[in-house]
Amino acid sequence: MRYARQRLIKEFEHLDEILAQKRVAVVGTGGLGGLCCRMLTGAGLLHLTIADDDVIEDSNLHRQVLFSEADIGASKSACAKRELERLDSRVQVRTFGRVSEDNFADFAQGADLVMDLSDNVATRLLINRMCARSRTDFIHCSVAASEGMLAAFKFSDRKSAARHGCYACLAGADAAPVFRGITGPYAGAMSCAAATLALRYFAGEDVFGRVWLYDLKNQKIRSFALHRDPQCPDCSGSFGN
Ligand SMILES: [Zn+2]
Repeated sequence: MRYARQRLIKEFEHLDEILAQKRVAVVGTGGLGGLCCRMLTGAGLLHLTIADDDVIEDSNLHRQVLFSEADIGASKSACAKRELERLDSRVQVRTFGRVSEDNFADFAQGADLVMDLSDNVATRLLINRMCARSRTDFIHCSVAASEGMLAAFKFSDRKSAARHGCYACLAGADAAPVFRGITGPYAGAMSCAAATLALRYFAGEDVFGRVWLYDLKNQKIRSFALHRDPQCPDCSGSFGN
């Protein structure tokens, strides 16, 4: 029985049955997205859409656990799909290149949850804006050096969204790009934190409207409730506000 040990965790007793009926769309299959997709597939998720237009480079291998030396030069989304299918032969994976305003509806079609595990600010803001507009529930996760951020937005619930706002309310719609170092364990810790939040959501817990800030070096976590910025250009007017 594949899920026997998972079912011993009280809150995840029926999780595999629930996940089998869900669809998650993930942006990024690298240091954050790769391990997160593997954890979700392992837990019982059978329908994923994954987007990544990068090819695998030698400099990715120290942190991106789905890829090996033989994959250098190959498409990340194609190799990620191959690895997820090796983990579970039942899994259905749709692959995408770069997500844009034009193809977002196709990318997120049927998704119960969109997860942004990308590595750049422009993509984060785009995905946030499109999720808010389409009222698709959204988890954001990012890591820079030893600092990680995780936040969850229930855009499908107008009241929750009007109260807690969106990623741009939190980070600023013109958030500057940050290029800092990254290591495998730090990326992996945030991947698993994002996967955990998604599993708690599917298990029926209200995880939305909060941000968690991780100090990965010192293993400290701070969390606080999110509040909508009334001036936010990305969600103002989207939720009857
Ligand atoms: Zn906003």
